Amino acid sequence: MKWSQNVSLSGYNTLACPSSAQYLAECYTLSDLRETFAFARANKLRVTVLGGGSNVIMPVQMSGIVLLNRLPGVAFKPLPDGQVLLQAGAGEVWDNLVRLSVQRGLRGIENLILIPGRVGAAPIQNIGAYGAELSDTLLSVEIYDPASDDCRTLSLADCQLGYRDSIFKTAVGREWVITGITLTLSPNRPLVLEYADLRQRWEQEEGAQNHPQAVARVVERLRRAKLPDPADIPNAGSFFKNPVVDHDVVAQLRLGYPELVAYPVLASDPALASDPPIQTPPERLKWKLAAGWLIDKAGWKGRMDNGVGCHERQALVLVNPGHRPADEVLAFATRLQADVKARFGVDLEPEPVLLGETETK
Ligand code: NAP
Repeated sequence: MKWSQNVSLSGYNTLACPSSAQYLAECYTLSDLRETFAFARANKLRVTVLGGGSNVIMPVQMSGIVLLNRLPGVAFKPLPDGQVLLQAGAGEVWDNLVRLSVQRGLRGIENLILIPGRVGAAPIQNIGAYGAELSDTLLSVEIYDPASDDCRTLSLADCQLGYRDSIFKTAVGREWVITGITLTLSPNRPLVLEYADLRQRWEQEEGAQNHPQAVARVVERLRRAKLPDPADIPNAGSFFKNPVVDHDVVAQLRLGYPELVAYPVLASDPALASDPPIQTPPERLKWKLAAGWLIDKAGWKGRMDNGVGCHERQALVLVNPGHRPADEVLAFATRLQADVKARFGVDLEPEPVLLGETETK
């Protein structure tokens, strides 16, 4: 356990917004968590839990305590049926977990290589990339509930995972601290290769090797080629979710933009979920629009306003090379959202979490 006071958080958010914390508590054990919350209760302080700081927008001043969740531990436990449980502490680096898994020939999270952040953040937004999501392998999540001072295990169903969404984003779940997760990995589940870029390069560069390490290598190359490294250009990954819209909206947009990038998604209606989307009547389909395509088409790709901008290779990523404060990043995002709405009639919803209140400089 390590306490500090009046600490700069610039190095603790990958968007590099200038910010400082009244108190910073680095927690390595459950008793560190308990001590932190006891101090918070005694002094009526707010606690904000932080992992890798790669999916947050930090205000200039974070009041109360910023709790750095550094709970360690990685264990692989073979099951009699050949599957393997992977248990990991919330403070582990997610990417390390993927690398350890693929080295063992285990499948399930290879498409999620190089996603920044710590393990504890993974279920909060149900991290996903290249056709795979955490929900494909997640078995359970361990939490500490400061209100009852208890630890509990939540099943996959309890976590209510959706597209970049979970119970941990609700009023109830926001109060909990994730302490660890358990995944079910397998040495022989099918590789997920439905994304065109991934399949093409896997066939070309890896000779279609049926190994999770080959997939991870291709995803790593794709990501490195397209996405800015926060160490070089501050960013928080995808800044907007891909909007999911009705069939009518897509049909209307296609009149003006026949090249619109949209993918069918199954509606939550269980009757539809059992059908492949192709057999579902088109008017009952929902479509996922590529937010990056909308932003690019609206002319924002590569645009930079006073140190904040849209990345030149991936429009979905907002970059902050000027290390501008949160309110300026948000103002840029708001202008972009308004323009996309005016052109396409589609709302873009930010993916990173806005912490606390943005205060004026
Ligand atoms: P891309 O391959 O250029 O595709 C553009 C969009 O179309 C993606 O957002 C993806 O949606 C969707 N898409 C592509 N092929 C699809 C298919 N076969 N079925 C359904 N949807 C499909 O995207 P990209 O920007 O290079 O990103 C590649 C992957 O990395 C994506 O999965 C993206 O979500 C992920 N990524 C995530 C973050 C993050 O911070 N969360 C940051 C960078 C990249 P989805 O986004 O829903 O997959």
